Amino acid sequence: MRSVRNRIVAGNWKMHGSRALLTSYVQDLARELDDLKQARQQQSSVQTGTDEVSVVICPPTGYLALLADLLHSNGLAKQIQLGAQDVNPHSQGAFTGETSAAMLRDLGARWVLVGHSERRQYQAETDELVAAKTAAALSLNLTPVICVGESEAQREAGEAEQVVASQLAVVIENLGASALADCVVAYEPVWAIGTGRTATAEIAQSMHAAIRERLAGWCGEAAERIPLLYGGSVKSSNAAQLFAQQDIDGGLIGGASLDAREFAGIIAAAGAGNG
Ligand code: PEP
Repeated sequence: MRSVRNRIVAGNWKMHGSRALLTSYVQDLARELDDLKQARQQQSSVQTGTDEVSVVICPPTGYLALLADLLHSNGLAKQIQLGAQDVNPHSQGAFTGETSAAMLRDLGARWVLVGHSERRQYQAETDELVAAKTAAALSLNLTPVICVGESEAQREAGEAEQVVASQLAVVIENLGASALADCVVAYEPVWAIGTGRTATAEIAQSMHAAIRERLAGWCGEAAERIPLLYGGSVKSSNAAQLFAQQDIDGGLIGGASLDAREFAGIIAAAGAGNG
């Protein structure tokens, strides 16, 4: 039987989108989710429970306000929450091009990704910076989704669990174990992001179980309540198998979240595991 942890499906749009794309996407998503709801009502014996899935979309920061308006005008404001892809650790100041946690909240975001592997790779983000961003998010009641994951070379060298544990350990060292209780952790093996190579359900579950064990060592019983998401080439065709695993509480979805039908299929897969 599954635990009481919330199911979460978060879409990371990365640097994609336009006013036109957002407008048609939100209309398509509203229709897809409505179709799902109707299908669910017709098959009353099959409980898909998609209402119990927290659905988050993280568009580029410049589109947060437009997405908020579109969700509202298409009747999705209650079903879908806004997230950002990054946050600056400072509250304000001379940081050209950056966005603070307070500004993200002001724009309607309630979630924020921190430490995505693309930022670690292209912006040279360190574990310490990821910890500082996590603190900034928590201070404004934004839920940080802390992204961790090993490279292919690290997996082949047998270092995957150790790499992921040390990425999380720096957050604990800087913020204290209790802070993690208000965070979400996304395990995203770097070799699976945007490559079409999904980790098998067994590999993903094994890492998620290892993460949960580490978390239990740091924060005791609270570890059971921390949602662990899997990310890396999740699609509607493989989501159900991944989400059926004991320690996988949903997904962080890149490419497939840009297609409304695919994203709705993934949301449905998360809901199918509820109850
Ligand atoms: C991501 O960017 O977080 C991600 C998981 O991407 P994709 O689903 O495209 O692999």
